[in-house]
Amino acid sequence: MQTIVTTVYNKNEEEEKKIILREYRALLRALKQRLKKGDKDMLRRAFEISVDAHRDMRRKSGEPYILHPLAVARIVVEEIGLGVTSAICALLHDVVEDTEITLEDITREFGEDFSKIIDGLTKISNVVDLKAETTIQAENFRKILLTLADDPRVILIKLGDRLHNMRTLESMSREKQLKISSETTYIYSPLAHRLGLYEIKSELEDLALKYTQPEVYMEIAKGLKETKRDRTKYINEFIKPVKDELQSLDFDFDIYGRPKAIHSIWNKMRTKHVAFEEVYDLFAIRIILNSPQDKEKEDCWKVYSVITNFYKPSPERLRDWVSVPKGNGYEALHTTVMGPGGRWVEVQIRSARMNEIAEKGLAAHWKYKEGAANPQESKLDSWLQHLRDILSNPDTDTIDFLQDFKLDLFTEEIYIYTPKGDMRVLPKGATAIDFAFDIHSELGARCIGAKVNYRLVPISHVLKSGDQVELITSSKQKPSEDWLGFVITAKAKSRIKYYLKEEKRKIGEDGKATLQRKLSHMGSGITHHNLNELCHFFKKPSPLDLYYAIAVGNIDLKELKDFTVHGDKIHQPIKEVKLPEQKTHVTHEEHKHKPAKGAELIIFGESSDQIKYKLAQCCQPIPGDDVFGFVTSGEGLKVHRTDCPNAAQLLANYGHRVVKTKWAKNKEISFLSGVRIIGLDDVGVIQKITNVISGELKMNMRSISIETHDGVFDGTIMVYVHDRDELDDLCEKLVALDGINKVERLEAPEV
Ligand code: MN
Repeated sequence: MQTIVTTVYNKNEEEEKKIILREYRALLRALKQRLKKGDKDMLRRAFEISVDAHRDMRRKSGEPYILHPLAVARIVVEEIGLGVTSAICALLHDVVEDTEITLEDITREFGEDFSKIIDGLTKISNVVDLKAETTIQAENFRKILLTLADDPRVILIKLGDRLHNMRTLESMSREKQLKISSETTYIYSPLAHRLGLYEIKSELEDLALKYTQPEVYMEIAKGLKETKRDRTKYINEFIKPVKDELQSLDFDFDIYGRPKAIHSIWNKMRTKHVAFEEVYDLFAIRIILNSPQDKEKEDCWKVYSVITNFYKPSPERLRDWVSVPKGNGYEALHTTVMGPGGRWVEVQIRSARMNEIAEKGLAAHWKYKEGAANPQESKLDSWLQHLRDILSNPDTDTIDFLQDFKLDLFTEEIYIYTPKGDMRVLPKGATAIDFAFDIHSELGARCIGAKVNYRLVPISHVLKSGDQVELITSSKQKPSEDWLGFVITAKAKSRIKYYLKEEKRKIGEDGKATLQRKLSHMGSGITHHNLNELCHFFKKPSPLDLYYAIAVGNIDLKELKDFTVHGDKIHQPIKEVKLPEQKTHVTHEEHKHKPAKGAELIIFGESSDQIKYKLAQCCQPIPGDDVFGFVTSGEGLKVHRTDCPNAAQLLANYGHRVVKTKWAKNKEISFLSGVRIIGLDDVGVIQKITNVISGELKMNMRSISIETHDGVFDGTIMVYVHDRDELDDLCEKLVALDGINKVERLEAPEV
């Protein structure tokens, strides 16, 4: 049981002033060593502007709003390790968006550097917050990444902002909690991970879990609390001999056990299908060495050998990110050893410098940049460059890109060498062709094979860490569709898709000309309406696919003879199998001619105005489905299911055209919907099906078509239902019949 504590906010102005000043002083203290001449005045100025701008605003909890930018500034300085510029921007991060203050004001007051960062922050939040109802994660993510490529500080401050929002999510509505939490899991924690901010990543994940799956979270938190004493005892027992030995060897170090994040325990329970009690490695032992930079690697290995003298290591669990750091700069030695009582214990060994990088990621790199030439810096730069490369590809489909990119964010890395000995970092599972695209997109497009460690391999060859790869190219080579089956990096995928699309477009030109001729014979032409009609008839997702299919002869334009022509509009022939027992019935289609009545079915946004709309052909929504309205560019409002195959694409790219939509109660009108049935071809099975539909459920069938071969039948039934519940009921009843294996709703029923 979760207890809900509601604290009533009741502080007076005096008390509030005190709290605000206390927070501001804490920020000053955190920055102390970094304040240069003039910095303090600027910071003070930013603080005053922010206080003044937000003076009439309060947070949902009742607190003065200014406490939020102050908290973000402290996170940015204390937990991410950024400096004065970022602190100032954090203080001002919400003023342009939420108050009278403009970007010009900021430029005048602080200069171009500051207003650029604040502009970036405003742009991100514009997308995220203002269109809260129609948020489009994919497009957000892309915007965020674009800003990241511009100035990483924007993202770091945004992460601080998000962290504070997550920490104070309690006072938000349930709906907001869910929305913000899922966005956090989707966008922000992968980014924190990629930027090497492990502490923040874990906290974000834990908080998101707390709000999305409160029971799970509470259960694990409770489990951790209950096992705390045992754990502490075990950790002490484990540490004791190691600590004594390291002290006698004169190491300057800290050693401690650290419980794993709730989210990562949950992951383990889920992926390994085990209960909390069965998750053994609930903690990791961490050893932080205060060694000078020139001796740190050597010392890490010395400590490793001390540990493995006491405890037997699992050979396949040694991770050496000391010799070759991760792509995000993470450095450490990880090993898993057999502790007392036969329990596996993970031990992480790193220097204080490495530890700071582990906690503060990117920001820590900047700090150490000034020191010795740091190879990590360039690696991070090359990652940002890589990001810019992908993002600059104008044809990248946002959704695809996102999927691919998210995979990139999380996979393990391998290290591949060029013939000259330069190292590239690629995700695990990358092939020779991924490597080629990583180096240069032209090289990827022309690659016909590779020599891996002097041995000839095909382009689909999966690389291993440490491989040296020499690429073989040919000017005649062209990317082909099947390459998409084995490349795994976002860059290779998006480039290949781009080439293929270009290729298709070129070929499609011919198809378009053919179609143009054909249509003008019919007294018509290529219009938006006609293309829609044709794409639907020939089942092609886009005009480009239609042109292409015509050009390569996959479509027979002779079929156009069955079309009817009205003016310049062509209409596809109507195909249907009428069942003899078909009753007359009021259908939604008939209601289309009476828009007033039809409009009562659906409520758009908050308004109760009646708006004309159409139900999308691609997903044929019925009452009870989650739906959204989409403003098309010529056909008015269309209503799609949120799980429509086109939904993600529409939401991602045209979020501004989406209208919140829900069904009104109406039992008088029925909707055409389709189910697909797969089962064994048994005599009488059709009888059984029609008995259920017409007899038991008294539904009206419009058509039924069944194909059988090799004793298996595959049927499609079009039926009129009132709502989702009826359809679900039908599916349940059908699947329960003998001989029927599978019943599913049709994605795009044929009309
Ligand atoms: Mn904010």
